[in-house]
Amino acid sequence: MTNDVIGTSRALNYEEPLLWEYAPAESGGVDFAPLANTSNRTGIAARKNIGLPQLKEPQVLRHFVRLSTKNFSIDHGFFPLGSCTMKHNPRLNEKTARLAGFTGIHPLQPQSTVQGALELMFELQSWLAELTGLRGVCLTPAAGAHGELAGLMTIRRTHELNGQGHRKVILCPDSAHGTNPATAAMCGYEIRVISTKETGCVTVENFKAALGDGKDVAAMMVTNPNTCGLFETEIKQCAKLLHAAGGYFYCDGANFNALVGNVRPADFGVDVMHINLHKTFSTPHGGGGPGSGPICVVENLMPYLPMPCVVKDQNQYKLETLEDRPTSFGRLKGFQGQFGMFVRALTYMLSHGQDGLKQVSSDAVLNANYILASLKNDFHIPFPDRTCMHECLLTDKIQKEHGVTTLDIAKTLIEYGIHPMTVYFPLVVQGSMLIEPTETEGRETIDRFIAVMKTIASDVREGKTDQCHENPISTPRRRLDEVRAARQPILKATL
Ligand SMILES: *Cc1c(COP(=O)(O)O)cnc(C)c1O
Repeated sequence: MTNDVIGTSRALNYEEPLLWEYAPAESGGVDFAPLANTSNRTGIAARKNIGLPQLKEPQVLRHFVRLSTKNFSIDHGFFPLGSCTMKHNPRLNEKTARLAGFTGIHPLQPQSTVQGALELMFELQSWLAELTGLRGVCLTPAAGAHGELAGLMTIRRTHELNGQGHRKVILCPDSAHGTNPATAAMCGYEIRVISTKETGCVTVENFKAALGDGKDVAAMMVTNPNTCGLFETEIKQCAKLLHAAGGYFYCDGANFNALVGNVRPADFGVDVMHINLHKTFSTPHGGGGPGSGPICVVENLMPYLPMPCVVKDQNQYKLETLEDRPTSFGRLKGFQGQFGMFVRALTYMLSHGQDGLKQVSSDAVLNANYILASLKNDFHIPFPDRTCMHECLLTDKIQKEHGVTTLDIAKTLIEYGIHPMTVYFPLVVQGSMLIEPTETEGRETIDRFIAVMKTIASDVREGKTDQCHENPISTPRRRLDEVRAARQPILKATL
C-alpha cells in the first residue's frame, strides 16, 4: 500500500491533518437532490455551496478530540512558566462552579432572584479588598491586561474630573511585562522608561530621573515583585515621591502569588492594582478557561471605577448603575464579568482561609528559592546577592561559552519531558530563563527538574553539546519558526 493509505501516525500518536485535507469539499457525503417546484420564501438570498468538507460524524469527533490532546497543560505535568503562575486548580473549585444554582442562572434575571450570586461577588470583592488593602473592587475585567486597561482608564478619569487631564505620561520600568506599556499607549499615554539595568529594581535615583518635576506624570506602572523575581525594596519611597508629584501608583498584580496573605500592596503605596484570578487564585488558564482580572483601588479612586460593582443596600445586594455613581467612566464588558471564575476564586480563598493563603505565598517563595539555591553553581545568576520571590531568574551565560543558548536548553527540557520555563523574558536580562514552580509542586517534581537542569549543565561543560542543538528529537515537530507562525499564520488550506 502507498504511504497515502498507511499514513504517518506512529505509536498511537496521530498526525492530524486539517479537515479539508481529509476530505475536500467536493468529495463524498450525501447531498439531497434539489426539490422540484419549490421557491425561496425566506426573502433572503439562497446560500451557495460554502465548501465545507464532507465527513462522517466519528471522523469529526476524533479530529477534535485528537487536537485537544495536543495541548500541554498543568494537568499533564510540571509547567514552570515564570510570570504565569501555572498552579494547580483544585477540583473543589470545579465542583462549586458546577452547582446548579450557579450554572442555571442568567445575567438578565431580576436581581431579586440572584441574591446568592450577587452575595458571592460581594464576598469576593471583600476578600480582595482585605488582601490588597485597597477598598474599592470591580470584578468585571476579563483578564490581567483588561484589568490594566480598566485601571488606567480609572486613573485617567480621575485626573480628567479633577482638572489634571494634562498629565500624559506613564512611568514604566524597562523590565515591565509588555502589556504595561501597550495598555498605557492604548489609553493615549506616553511612556517614560525607568531604567533598572544595574540592580534589576527601581531605585529612588533612577525613579527620580524618570519622574522629573512630575507635573506631566499620570501614574507609574510597576509590578512588585518585579519580572526579575525580586522584591522592590525602594518602592515605598518612590511611591511617596510620586504621590507628592500628583501621580498614582498602578501595580501590575500578576505576581501577587508571592505576597498574598503576607503583604498588602496598599502598604507599599499602591493606588490601583489588577488581580489575575487565574494566576493567584487558581482559576484555570493556559487553554483551560477564561481569565478574570478584577481591579482594586484606594478609597479616593472608588468613584471612578468602571461599572458595575456589587453593593449592599440594607439586606439586598445590587449591581450599581450610572445613576448611583455618575463619575464612573462606564462599562468595559457586557454583564458582570467571568462569573464562573468568581465562584472558583472564592472557593479557593474560603478553602485556604487567611492562614492558608499566607502559607501559599510562603511556599511559593520557598520552592523558587530551593531551585535557585540548587542551580546556582550550574547556571549564571544575574542578581546573585538577592534571594528571589516566587520565581527565579537564570541565564545561559555559562553555557553560551560552549555555544549552547537558552533556546537549546528549553528544547532539551522538552526532550526530557519537561515543559520549558519562560525564556528571553524579562528582556533586560540577556538569555533569561524565568522559572516559577508555584507552591503546588511537590518535592519529587522539583527535584527531577533540578536533576535534569544539572544534567544539561554538566553535558554542556563536558562538551556534549551536539544533542542540545538537535533537541527535541522525539516530538512530532522539532523546531518551529515561531515568529513566522505568529506573523504569517496559514489558517486556510490551499489545496
Ligand atoms: C500574565 C501577566 C499579565 C497579563 O495578564 P493576562 O491575564 O495574561 O492578560 C500582565 N503582567 C504580568 C507581569 C503578567 O505576568
